[in-house]
Amino acid sequence: MKFSTKSWSKIAHMGITIAVAIAASSAAIAGSTEKQNLPEVKYESGVLPKVWFSGGPGCATFTDDFQVNKYNDNFYILRQSGCTHTEKPFLYILFGKNKAILFDTGAGNNTDPTTGRVPNVVAAVDKVINEWLAKNNRSSIPLVVTHLHSHWDHTWGDFQFEKRPNTTFVKSGDVGTLQSFFGIKNWPQDTATFDLGGRILDIIPIPGHDATSIAVYDRATAVLLSGDTVYPGRIYINEPDPDLFQASIQRLVDFTSTRLVVHVLGTHIEQRAPYLDYAIGEHYTPEEIPLELGRAELLELLEASKLRTEVGGKKQVTQKAYRDFTICDVYPKCTPVNSAPRK
Ligand SMILES: [Zn+2]
Ligand SMILES: [Zn+2]
Repeated sequence: MKFSTKSWSKIAHMGITIAVAIAASSAAIAGSTEKQNLPEVKYESGVLPKVWFSGGPGCATFTDDFQVNKYNDNFYILRQSGCTHTEKPFLYILFGKNKAILFDTGAGNNTDPTTGRVPNVVAAVDKVINEWLAKNNRSSIPLVVTHLHSHWDHTWGDFQFEKRPNTTFVKSGDVGTLQSFFGIKNWPQDTATFDLGGRILDIIPIPGHDATSIAVYDRATAVLLSGDTVYPGRIYINEPDPDLFQASIQRLVDFTSTRLVVHVLGTHIEQRAPYLDYAIGEHYTPEEIPLELGRAELLELLEASKLRTEVGGKKQVTQKAYRDFTICDVYPKCTPVNSAPRK
């Protein structure tokens, strides 16, 4: 498919309208100069780092618990340092006019051979919120603390928010709690919306990796937060029925078929190159591939989710490596691709 340069009327920065050529018109293919009516879409763009800090190599000198990436003025990403935990998860903070929301609270500490440091999640989140308040000339904003799923490496820091003032805490690990908080009538078929004040999030149930997995589509930035369900690494299907996961990915594919998807952002990076994983448990991983995926990987994951191997008369997911992820059965049944521990 070929576009003429005239197809692109504007290049985007924050909040700027972008004319997007969704498909080449026959006029463009024929090389005609006839003016095209391109559909216009708007989204707030942001910035992702080329390389995330994993921590180290020397943890005594790598003292930040989190790398803070301001994606844009109202969207922050926190990456937990490998100097506190080898899982190195990503946390997300989004701001609307009326409230802020935090997805996930980190993995605690397991690792560090030199510091033994315990991450201060609430301090890192407060620093971001205080920066936002100062910039917006505000003295406070209510915070919602919730999760993209309920595994320990994303909920460890929950206790640090229990006594935080002006905070609504949504307990993890319970579908009923998620349904009532977000107003999801039929789980997992229905989606719900959550309004931060001038900023609508779509909440999409996607059980499979975990019973309480959700994806979150941010209409302002067209970013899809996918938790541990889609990320550059080993995707484990922990729920016993693999068809549940397949149905969830199908719903993500369907949901995004009529929407712009700027990035699919998950909560780990475990690969260092296409078809090349880091070994499990490494705290220093300086050659990671980017965090961001796109809708193409959703389509690929849908294909992957349909693969089955029969074991003991029971059908389970077939492990298979793709360029940007590996689909796996129940944790920890997965062999990292081509990895060897760092010497
Ligand atoms: Zn998980
Ligand atoms: Zn995880």
